[in-house]
Amino acid sequence: MTVPGFTPGIIARIQFAHLPTPVEVLPRLTAALKGPKIFIKRDDQTGLAMGGNKTRKLEFLLAEAQAHGAHTLITAGAIQSNHCRQTAAAAARFGLGCILVLSAEPPVEPPEQASGNLLLDYLLGAQVVWCRREERDAVLQHTFETAWTGGRRPYLIPYGGSNPTGAAAYAHAMQEFLDQDTPVDWILFPSSSGGTQAGLLVGARKAGWKGHILGISVDEERQVLAERVAALANATAERLGLAETFLVQDILVDDGYLGEGYAVMGEAEREAIRLFAAAEGILLDPVYTGRAAAGMIGLIRQGFFKPEDRLLFWHTGGTPALFADVYREQLSKGA
Ligand SMILES: *Cc1c(COP(=O)(O)O)cnc(C)c1O
Repeated sequence: MTVPGFTPGIIARIQFAHLPTPVEVLPRLTAALKGPKIFIKRDDQTGLAMGGNKTRKLEFLLAEAQAHGAHTLITAGAIQSNHCRQTAAAAARFGLGCILVLSAEPPVEPPEQASGNLLLDYLLGAQVVWCRREERDAVLQHTFETAWTGGRRPYLIPYGGSNPTGAAAYAHAMQEFLDQDTPVDWILFPSSSGGTQAGLLVGARKAGWKGHILGISVDEERQVLAERVAALANATAERLGLAETFLVQDILVDDGYLGEGYAVMGEAEREAIRLFAAAEGILLDPVYTGRAAAGMIGLIRQGFFKPEDRLLFWHTGGTPALFADVYREQLSKGA
């Protein structure tokens, strides 16, 4: 199957995600917030071992890995990385080995204490290499070299799956959303390694879509993330054969919701998670979508949007982190 609007064959893809993901309207959340009408795109339902946005990227990254004759996937992330869990699942699905370089402090978590995504990493058969955050790149490089010399034919997937190949998946996702014929003015989502935002921007530009694509930063200051997204959007457009240029000032990032830092859940995330769950029966996650939803709620309350605006909250997944032990105390408050 080819996706309309793109020249087929420029980037190979193996289709295993459950697509298109549904678009739903959220009337009870809209009423609770007394703001603009809110829709949701359910990329928490992409189908691979509890889903999420990385599954879309992996359709393209797996095709590239196979073209390279890879036997082993190697990637890196934080201890509760959704990207690592989905990569481990994709490896299992295609009969490949998987090595995950996970950063934590202290840099080890015994399997018998694993919870959330880490527990799933083990169930999915991944091998875990522990490190501290600041040594992650070096450990990743070393792990790759060891696997290479050991004859394991490794293929390195970058952090968050965010290279032009991975980000291209979100250019296709944007076209998928436009084909679902739900007009909106704003698209909001959590943005971190930038592949999701870069891909959405490329897809929107290609289709001539005129709405706003606003990334709620999960861990970086606005300027840092906007520069990353612009560079990746340019590289992704080039990879797709599109003569489009993205400037840093074209990239909308809100860094007003960083709280206590990456993966530290605060009151704003807790409130957002409970509101989506209680009003709509939709589960967010403590690290990414909880923070982005807190951002959307904050912007609605500040009167940032016009009453007639239509918002799309693009759910990027992350559900397994709800079951990580570190968040239990905070999430159960008010029960
Ligand atoms: C990785 C991730 C993101 C961020 O996507 P990027 O493409 O890295 O910016 C958002 N939400 C969830 C649940 C994720 O796992």
